Amino acid sequence: MVGKKRTFIIVGASLAGAKAAEELRERGFDGQIVLVGAESDRPYERPPLTKDYLRGESDRGSNFVHEEGFYAAHEISLLTDTAVTALDPVAATVTLSGGTELGYDRLLLATGAEPRRLRVAGADLEGIHYLRTLADCELLRDRLRGGARIAVVGAGWIGSEFAASARQVGHEVTLIDPGAVPNERIFGAEIGSFYRDLHARHGVDLVLGEGVESFEGDGRLDRVRTSSGRAIECDFAVIGIGVLPRTDLARDAGLGVENGILVDAGLQTTAPGVFAAGDVASAWHPFYGGQLRVEHWSNALTQGPAAARAMLGETVRYEHIPYFFSDQYEVGMEYSGYAPHWDEVVFRGDPASGEFIAFWLCDGRVVAGMNVNVWDVSDQIRTLIGSRRTVDVPTLTDPDTPLGSSVDIATSRS
Ligand code: NAP
Repeated sequence: MVGKKRTFIIVGASLAGAKAAEELRERGFDGQIVLVGAESDRPYERPPLTKDYLRGESDRGSNFVHEEGFYAAHEISLLTDTAVTALDPVAATVTLSGGTELGYDRLLLATGAEPRRLRVAGADLEGIHYLRTLADCELLRDRLRGGARIAVVGAGWIGSEFAASARQVGHEVTLIDPGAVPNERIFGAEIGSFYRDLHARHGVDLVLGEGVESFEGDGRLDRVRTSSGRAIECDFAVIGIGVLPRTDLARDAGLGVENGILVDAGLQTTAPGVFAAGDVASAWHPFYGGQLRVEHWSNALTQGPAAARAMLGETVRYEHIPYFFSDQYEVGMEYSGYAPHWDEVVFRGDPASGEFIAFWLCDGRVVAGMNVNVWDVSDQIRTLIGSRRTVDVPTLTDPDTPLGSSVDIATSRS
């Protein structure tokens, strides 16, 4: 007798969710897969939404994780325009927005994150935008067709990449952030200054060390008023002040939630058979010995499939060292590691040349590295981080000594 086929439900038709569904099929899972997403589009990737697609340099189709026919061909039921409104981990059911209840054998929560809203006077005026979804991007892509003066609030990833793209297609941009330099918390002063100067060289008006007091206009935005009282006249504003993990469904179901849905190193939540991955998951990281929630593309790409393997009963120990990349103007970079604090930043190559590697050191060990217009070194950087070994700084920073020497020394002592 053939046993009843199992049903795996994935909540969130995101990169993490789509890659998890793909992995389930690749590993030979022949049960039902239901991939549920609140948006109208099939799963897509976000990096182009602040870069080439935003600037009108690539086509819509290139954003999607899979070809149009992929889900049907792999017997994955993709439910778009559908939200999961409730989860009952005891009965092992979810409720869909239309009221349908579905039972599951395994569940993956890949519900992602949503933009933090800037709640100041005038925040509801027309002309204030956030950039998260493909639809958000397409609206801004249209707005970038005419000449515009744009105020960008927040010099994090969205703000920096949007500002760069808007300048590249010829708009006037003012970038406002309470920090002294862009991405100050991650970069620190030296690398932050490199990016500040890069934007300045490309004609961005940087307003740093200032927050936003209010948005002003009659029905639609005319100007942004900063905390020092400066008025920035603009046609529209784009806000990128961080994201909040979408945890309501998990919290309402009684799952452990603390800055994200809590999962163990095998990506299982506090409810048996329920897993989480991507921006929403705060996962126990064996290498760092703590919970880590990573809001980047490469984490979704690798954690979704890892969760899929865990759903299939494999022993999973997710300890990917965080990695992300950014392209702004002529500067491409990759960052590997996680450095909530550090002692010093050292350079291999001169930042003024535009090609260098920066290393964040803590107790003489590399905790993060960023290669700027230097390629094929991030595996070596990750190996250095993973070795946890102290490095010889003169060797590490000498461009005439191969980076491999520092890696060899670190790994031979491991
Ligand atoms: P983000 O990278 O966390 O940056 C938010 C920035 O806004 C920070 O500089 C923050 O300063 C600043 N900020 C906070 N409150 C503010 C306020 N009231 N007024 C003005 N500035 C304020 O978040 P994001 O740029 O919105 O990006 C959203 C998500 O997309 C993140 O998860 C990000 O990782 C992801 N993303 C990644 C990439 C990439 O990997 N290349 C590209 C685009 C987006 P503090 O740090 O001092 O709070």
